[in-house]
Amino acid sequence: MITSADMAGILQKYDTSKLAIGTLGSHSSLNIFKGAKEEGFRTVCVCKEKDAILYQKFPLVDELITVKDFTELLTEELQEKLRRLNVILIPHGSFTAYLSTQQLTDSLMVPMFGNRELLHWEADRKEQEDWLRQAGLRLPATFKSPDEIDRLVIAKLPGAKGGRGYFLANSPQAFYKKFTEMVARRLLTDEDLDKVHLQEYALGVNVYPSYFSSIIKDDVELLAMDRRYESAVDSLGKIPASQQLEIDVNPTYTVVGNFPIVLRESLLPEIIRMGDSVHKKARELAPPGIIGPFCLETVITDDLKIFTFEISARIVAGTNVGIGTSPYAYLRYGENMYMGRRIAIEIKEAAAQNRLNEIAV
Ligand code: AMP
Ligand code: AMP
Repeated sequence: MITSADMAGILQKYDTSKLAIGTLGSHSSLNIFKGAKEEGFRTVCVCKEKDAILYQKFPLVDELITVKDFTELLTEELQEKLRRLNVILIPHGSFTAYLSTQQLTDSLMVPMFGNRELLHWEADRKEQEDWLRQAGLRLPATFKSPDEIDRLVIAKLPGAKGGRGYFLANSPQAFYKKFTEMVARRLLTDEDLDKVHLQEYALGVNVYPSYFSSIIKDDVELLAMDRRYESAVDSLGKIPASQQLEIDVNPTYTVVGNFPIVLRESLLPEIIRMGDSVHKKARELAPPGIIGPFCLETVITDDLKIFTFEISARIVAGTNVGIGTSPYAYLRYGENMYMGRRIAIEIKEAAAQNRLNEIAV
């Protein structure tokens, strides 16, 4: 396991007058690179050859390193190259989608903006739930066994991509019937029965607030808010119920894009308190807590209860809707503030105050 002392050692050898911001070419990289350029950093992109066109059309990258596969990030050769370029990596969703938590915490010897220890809390569903519950957030109830189901639940499989294989049930009978059907359709296997996670289905609308936890300013800022545009679930309403029944649809949740949201203002105080307390709890569990962006995945019901079903302790792609500006970033900073730029400002301030070892631990 790489320690914060290892990171501090590498940072000490960096030429801080030539710091570069780097990331994998995907997810929220344009957001990150634009922010870095606006703050005067050099930028380094590790990308797949087929995606290089993106950085030709949006020229925000000074150093483009093409790889066959993102796992090349784990090679000593590439890491040495990144260190020579004085790169601070910004982790985003593709890091955890294409590399394991273990690989990130054990084999990535390049300074990474954020708190590595929190990656473990985030990756384990049970630990993540404990963290959020202890922070006082309202979570959907969970059920240990299908026999306990007494309300509408969503049955989730670990690692399911885009919710394929998720299904809804409102009684033990309905659960077993659906499960058998899913096995028959080869969406699930019999062995999945022990692995399925049963969570109360919060009937409401999805809201994803994004925050920035600043170690330098010792503050948590609400910067952006979005919802996802998910296929196929967002298209179900386009076909009449009778035809939905005929084709026996099951919702899947493959992200295709995001929409910006402005929230009913009376909900904001609670949203802000939630961000503060999640960071405060993280500081107890894994000091110094969250460093940089994080996002709560919530459902808000018609009685205005906010249920949180997940946390991402890193930049989420939903903040891309704010590139340039967004209402909450504007309210705090005025024009031209967004997550990628906010990250770059934090790194710049940390460098100026000789505190880089506090933001990449
Ligand atoms: P990608 O590099 O596009 O394959 O994305 C990596 C991970 O981030 C995947 O788990 C995606 O589901 C997630 N992701 C990518 N883009 C978005 C988005 N616009 N909104 C939410 N999640 C996303
Ligand atoms: P996940 O794989 O946990 O990100 O969930 C995929 C999608 O399922 C989310 O985008 C939500 O729309 C929906 N979802 C997950 N958990 C719940 C829940 N407890 N209540 C309502 N909707 C949920």
